Amino acid sequence: MNNRQKTALILLGHGSHISPNTAGVVWDAVDNLRHMGIADEITGAFWKEQPHFRTVLSSISATDITLVPLFTAQGYFTQTVIPTEMNLNGQITNQGEKIIRYAQPPVYHLKIQQIVQARVDDAIRQYQLMPSDVGIAIIGHSTRKNASSRQSTEYQAGILQQKGIYGSVITAFLDDDPPIISIYERIDQPTIIAIPLFLAMGSHTTIDVPEAMLLPPNCNYAYVNNKQVIYTPAIGDNNDLTDLICDLARDVGAPLYNPHPPKSAWDYFPRGGWEAFQTRLMHDKSLIIGDLFITIDGVRVVDDDQATTIITSPAMLRKLIRENPFRPLMTAKGLPKGWFAPASSVDEVCAIIETVYPALISHLFVDENYQTTPINQTIRRQTGIYRQLVNLDTTMMHIITDEICGDCIRQPTWHNHRASPIACDEACNWWLSHALEKVEN
Ligand code: SF4
Repeated sequence: MNNRQKTALILLGHGSHISPNTAGVVWDAVDNLRHMGIADEITGAFWKEQPHFRTVLSSISATDITLVPLFTAQGYFTQTVIPTEMNLNGQITNQGEKIIRYAQPPVYHLKIQQIVQARVDDAIRQYQLMPSDVGIAIIGHSTRKNASSRQSTEYQAGILQQKGIYGSVITAFLDDDPPIISIYERIDQPTIIAIPLFLAMGSHTTIDVPEAMLLPPNCNYAYVNNKQVIYTPAIGDNNDLTDLICDLARDVGAPLYNPHPPKSAWDYFPRGGWEAFQTRLMHDKSLIIGDLFITIDGVRVVDDDQATTIITSPAMLRKLIRENPFRPLMTAKGLPKGWFAPASSVDEVCAIIETVYPALISHLFVDENYQTTPINQTIRRQTGIYRQLVNLDTTMMHIITDEICGDCIRQPTWHNHRASPIACDEACNWWLSHALEKVEN
């Protein structure tokens, strides 16, 4: 019998309700790391999307867990939101028999400096520029809620400034001062190289920052306010991310395995709740979970006998069900049809379900001991805008919950105490975000 402690690696990202790319860069890294087999269970978790920071640990069966936050600032999310949502009390947290290691975000890692430098060098080479004619703007997100959120952007700008070869190097922020539009007043040089210090080409880097810079849509080169503007890719668009994640995990003592190829494309998934699910599947032979029809031979959408696309990898399945159109709530009703994911084992069946509905398996077939978090507790825990929901009255709560959760395959057990067909233990970010929208309107 193998008594080795099982390990898990969870990459934490922001996610988005608008663009699939924000979480997409995290899922790409998860896929790469699963190919390397460096931990027994590997997954992602998000603030905006499922699985959420709050619930992802319920999907993990391993006891030695390492969290790597993929944020480009050491600030509000890494110091407040994640520790609050995941009950962390420092770099090492013991929760029952589990040890949870919380890595540093990549902001100060040497590889980030190298990527930023490569963005500058590539632009200078491509457009045959003189460094002294160039003003560099490092653009960060930051937030007024946390004074240290801006420091990583200033740190990267400082490194370029010290080289003393560029016309100027400044910072600007999406959600802090100085604002992005100010780069045109503050840079005297004829050319601006703007580098978004974000890990993904998500909605901030493809919509919000270009708009604030007055760039035409889908344009990374333009003349604006009589200046030549070169807008570089985000810094996470790079294979170096995988090595960087391994370095950060090892820095907090993660016992990563040496890379070795997986036996199946569906290896190294979270395994929480798998045993009970597999026992049920072997007994019943087929199950319907949400929109999925599941047998031991594979998974497809219910009432979809015409499936023509055969799924061969998690990335292929995720892209098909998530991106076109973008489904920010993975458990929303109405999965795209036309595909079949064959499985050669019950483990593969579970990994397919985990890809479609992340962190859901441990919430299936629950009993009366199922723990839920009352909504007032969820709202009181909030440190940002969702705190405004504290004044939501009971009638509004019913209306909002019926409307939002009515489109989801889960039952809001935290609200109506019903656990069938699929339980939900607490209000998700989709609920909080839409409830706030309705209250504000
Ligand atoms: S039931 Fe409601 S709160 Fe739970 S995941 Fe679905 S939409 Fe979110």
